[in-house]
Amino acid sequence: MTKRVVLIGHPVAHSLSGAMQQAAFDARGIDAAYELWDRAPIDLPDAITEIRGDDFLGANVTIPHKERVVPLIDRLTEEAHATGAVNTITREGRRLVGHNTDVPGFSAALDKLVGRAKMPRQAVVLGAGGGARAVVYGLIREGFTRIVVFNRHLHRAEGLVKHFGRSASHMELRAMPWHPSIIESELTKSKILVNATSIGLTDDESPIPAEVLASELLVLDLIYNRTRLLRDAQSAGATAQDGETMLLHQGAAAFTLWTGQPAPLDIMGEALAAARAGGLRSAEGEPAGDESTEPAGDGGITAASG
Ligand code: NDP
Repeated sequence: MTKRVVLIGHPVAHSLSGAMQQAAFDARGIDAAYELWDRAPIDLPDAITEIRGDDFLGANVTIPHKERVVPLIDRLTEEAHATGAVNTITREGRRLVGHNTDVPGFSAALDKLVGRAKMPRQAVVLGAGGGARAVVYGLIREGFTRIVVFNRHLHRAEGLVKHFGRSASHMELRAMPWHPSIIESELTKSKILVNATSIGLTDDESPIPAEVLASELLVLDLIYNRTRLLRDAQSAGATAQDGETMLLHQGAAAFTLWTGQPAPLDIMGEALAAARAGGLRSAEGEPAGDESTEPAGDGGITAASG
């Protein structure tokens, strides 16, 4: 019987996970199909009931369900519990286990961004949604001593800080109002800037003015494209990296959880690059000459290397 893995989101039509996971199943000779389920929030409980069946290996969960799905799951891993968000589900019989593979995905992206340099200890995070929770938890676990979170709706950033109260008790985690001059001031004290908002995903906007980006900054945008923020960062001489490494590694971790097998990272990376090349704003679809404008070092805007 062909096993099933589903991505539950709303919408899911533009997800790159399908190409990446199907290529991995095929490469490992696993008889499984990755399906995209577009489910409105009201239909989420029924979808979760359905995946308890024997034909399912598990699921991915994406916007807007990552936090909403938590109470519908029987057991959470430490990362899912700490972040309050689930992006991967596995089955133990009819019981469901919730994981957050965005956390190891982010850690892989952070390692690549920093490269051989010393790991910084201060970071600015833009956004306070599910992605930002994985980022903040990854930074806390990495040993960052100061993290400032900016969000358009301040109360959500404050909620995030409160959520991490206990895990962040040994360090400084602060929510601040979304104001360019405050962001600029915080950036002078930080080496790492992470964009975990969706600004730049469907438009050519940047969350912050180009002038506040200094050449010493390491900038990570969770968005998979070469966003305006990343282009501005490059123009300022900063090191810039998009969200592909995070996407690849969260997917690889999910694959291993469903199948018990090591993920074929190269094949998944190639499938991701091919799927992106067909997209309008994909980095790989742009002229190869673009690469030469990247700053030297490990953190350029790169295709996933695994
Ligand atoms: P959420 O919907 O949970 O959060 C969206 C965030 O973006 C919120 O902080 C929201 O602020 C902010 N935002 C949206 N529009 C605006 C705007 N016009 N002005 C200011 N702030 C805005 O999404 P996720 O956290 O799940 O995802 C965020 C981004 O990260 C997405 O682009 C997603 O694709 C990417 N991502 C990438 C991953 C990867 O593997 N590379 C993994 C996870 C996410 P507010 O709360 O005020 O509305």
